[in-house]
Amino acid sequence: MQPAPAGGAHEHPALPTGRPAAEILAELKALRTADAPTRGGRTFAYVYDAGREGLDELAAEAYAAYATVNGLDPTVFPSVARLENDLVGAAAALLGGSARTQGTFTSGGTESILLAVKTARDHARSTRGVSDPQLVLPATAHAAFHKAAAYLGLEPVVVPVDPVTYKANPTAITAAITPRTALVVASAPSYAHGVVDPVARIAEAAAERDVLCHVDACIGGWLLPYLRRAGREVEPFDLSVPGVTSLSVDLHKYGYADKGASVVLYRDAELRRHQYFAHAGWPGYPVVNPTVQGTKSAGLPAQAWAVLQHIGEDGYTALAERVATASDHLLEGLRATPDVHVLGEPEAGLVAFTVLTPGVPDRTSAAPDLSLLLHLADEMRERGWYLQPQLSFDGLPPNLHLTLTPATVDRVGPLLTDLAAALTSARALPPVTADPALTDLAAGLDPDALTPDEIAGILAFAGLGEDSGTGGLPERMAPVLFLLDALPGRLKERLLTEFVGSVFRLR
Ligand SMILES: *Cc1c(COP(=O)(O)O)cnc(C)c1O
Repeated sequence: MQPAPAGGAHEHPALPTGRPAAEILAELKALRTADAPTRGGRTFAYVYDAGREGLDELAAEAYAAYATVNGLDPTVFPSVARLENDLVGAAAALLGGSARTQGTFTSGGTESILLAVKTARDHARSTRGVSDPQLVLPATAHAAFHKAAAYLGLEPVVVPVDPVTYKANPTAITAAITPRTALVVASAPSYAHGVVDPVARIAEAAAERDVLCHVDACIGGWLLPYLRRAGREVEPFDLSVPGVTSLSVDLHKYGYADKGASVVLYRDAELRRHQYFAHAGWPGYPVVNPTVQGTKSAGLPAQAWAVLQHIGEDGYTALAERVATASDHLLEGLRATPDVHVLGEPEAGLVAFTVLTPGVPDRTSAAPDLSLLLHLADEMRERGWYLQPQLSFDGLPPNLHLTLTPATVDRVGPLLTDLAAALTSARALPPVTADPALTDLAAGLDPDALTPDEIAGILAFAGLGEDSGTGGLPERMAPVLFLLDALPGRLKERLLTEFVGSVFRLR
């Protein structure tokens, strides 16, 4: 790494003198050729494709109509309040809200969760005098809760989940509640395994101790109610469940809005008040920010509003049915595939499976085969499918994760055919291994005290060095992920931080 020359004389590419619009747009489109496709149902993570003609164009036009409006001040731009109130109202109507329910439109699930945790922290401080708050979480709660705890100074108390169902254990959660608990969390469903936690029992335990309970329905909130409408059995999980005091739901997932759209709901305005930040102690305009951002685009609520209005109740019910059909088909195919083991009983939408060590006759005692699993992910990627690898955690097996959307319905058959072929190829490959000398060495390192040279050395060894291909990403991820899986959590986090830092790096 070159030290930065003194005086900032390094030659970073500056802006050109100005270029024609057509040329710029062509370059933007060309930049995307290396990206995974966001439409067409072959990318089973990160993207939500309703598969409906004209929806993307509608969202883009709605965004454009509001792109210059500043959502910071609804007294200057009253349209923003109208759009947000409609969105929050639709979420409250769908998710068991009462006449007292209030909420906020946010930029995504992470922001909704940050705000729910801040609200709980400040509520616990002001109503119960809690100065050293804890956040009680099932091990499967989304990482955004850990981010919120880290940002906002809460201690996360992580409770193991049931090792067979992957659901939160309400007895263990109840035992983890203390006078310091500001918030208890349940997921509907969890991202990792797509199973719904026993919300009623968890919320009841929280209410008995006068503690708030948040339901993370970021991914399930716009799907589960419509699955119920389509005739599927869905247990109660929303604000109608006694003891549930807040809930997050992402419109940019199964609401099919473009990214940057979520809603956080609260029992009442008195609770939501703790979310707001107001400041009058400076000479500028008096600040009231309901969310993290100050200036924010009204294009985001506008596009979400347009998409929700356009799809409507019947549309969402039909789309949920398509997701459930895709999910049924996939689960049936996976369960019929030798050595493949589906984790838990996924509710619909999300499916995680692992691959068991071949040749062990008693399948209940067969261990996951991480090498085979990661080879399989690479083999599938070569065949044009993206399945999301998830590493092992605290006794829970490593797995491949699929997000099913309506656009994937017609893809599940071909996916299963390719999966069988990819498994055969993966079995024929030499197993991935991690050099025990390296893992032993790594285990003894202090992740926070590594020097830049040490970091560069480990990244290069892991195949994530500067010269390992496009943007430092190797062609096959199996060796990298295999090594990561074996490293201690904190070291994993440090290396990933450095790796992503190397992707976003000026050269
Ligand atoms: C997606 C998701 C989140 C985080 O949301 P972002 O929109 O990615 O910030 C939180 N919880 C669950 C269950 C999710 O699926």
